Amino acid sequence: MPQLLAGKSALVLGVANRWSLAYAIAQAYRREGARLLLTYQGERQRQTVEELGVSLGADMILACDVSSDDDLARLLETLRASDLPLDAVVHSIAFADRDDLSHPFVETSRKGFLLAQEISAYSLVAVARAAAPLMRSGGSILTLSYLGAVRVVQNYNVMGVAKAALESSVRYLANDLGPSGIRVNAISAGPVKTASARGVKDFSKVLDGVARISPLRRNTDPAEVADTAVFLASDLGRGVTANVIYVDAGFQAMGLAHE
Ligand code: NAD
Repeated sequence: MPQLLAGKSALVLGVANRWSLAYAIAQAYRREGARLLLTYQGERQRQTVEELGVSLGADMILACDVSSDDDLARLLETLRASDLPLDAVVHSIAFADRDDLSHPFVETSRKGFLLAQEISAYSLVAVARAAAPLMRSGGSILTLSYLGAVRVVQNYNVMGVAKAALESSVRYLANDLGPSGIRVNAISAGPVKTASARGVKDFSKVLDGVARISPLRRNTDPAEVADTAVFLASDLGRGVTANVIYVDAGFQAMGLAHE
C-alpha cells in the first residue's frame, strides 16, 4: 500500500511521553512516510521526548512552551531557517489547574478559567498564525478536543469550556486559512488514560461508562485517533475542514442507555 503522507512534513506539538495522543499520531505519521518535527513543553519533558523523537527518526526536536511568545517566535524562526515546507500541524495541548477539575464548575476562579483558555484554546490560534506562512502548498492543522465541549461531563468543568472555545476557533481559523488551502479540524477523542486525563477527578469512572454504553462497547484506542489524524493530513482528507470528527467508539451519539 502506498504511504499516505510520503513527501510531507509534520509539526507535532504535545508529546510528553509514550502515552500521549501526540505520540500515537507521530508514530502513525512516520509509518505513513512523513518527516517529523516534534516540540515539547520544557526541560521536564526534554529527555523523554528526545528519546522518543530519536526512535521515530524525527528531523527536529524543539522546546516550545505555548504560553511564551518568545518560544513561539523561536520555533517559527527555526522552522523558517530549516526551509522545510510544512504540510501538517498537530496541536495536542491542554492544561487546567487540577483543583478546577475536581470542584464544582461554579467555583472556577478567574485565574483558573483564563489559564485553561490560554493554554488549551488560544494556543491553537497562536500556533496556526505562526505555522500558516510556512504551509506554502496548503495543508492540515489538527487539534484534539473532547465531548465535554458540547455536553456536561462530570469534573471536566473549565476544560469543557476551553474545548468549546477551541472547537469554535477551529471554525474561524478554517475560514481565515481556507483560501490558502489550509484545512483546520479537530478530532474529538474518546477518553484515553494519559497524564492529562489523570488530572480529571474520577477519570476511571468515565472509562468504565464508555466501555459499558458506547455503541462499540469499548474504549478508544489511541491508534484509532492517530489513523484519523493521518486521513485528515493526507490528500484523502482534502475536502474536510472546519470539522470536529468524533473518534470515540460512538459514545457521543448515546442518550439514555439501559444496562
Ligand atoms: P498528555 O498529557 O500526554 O498531553 C498534553 C500535552 O500538553 C503535554 O505534552 C503537555 O506537555 C502539553 N502542554 C501543556 N501545557 C503546555 C504548554 N504551556 N506549552 C506546551 N505544551 C503544553 O495528554 P493527552 O491526553 O495526550 O492530551 C493531548 C490532547 O488530547 C489535549 O488537548 C487533550 O485535552 C486532548 N484529549 C485527550 C483525551 C484523553 O482522554 N486523554 C480525550 C480527548 C481529547
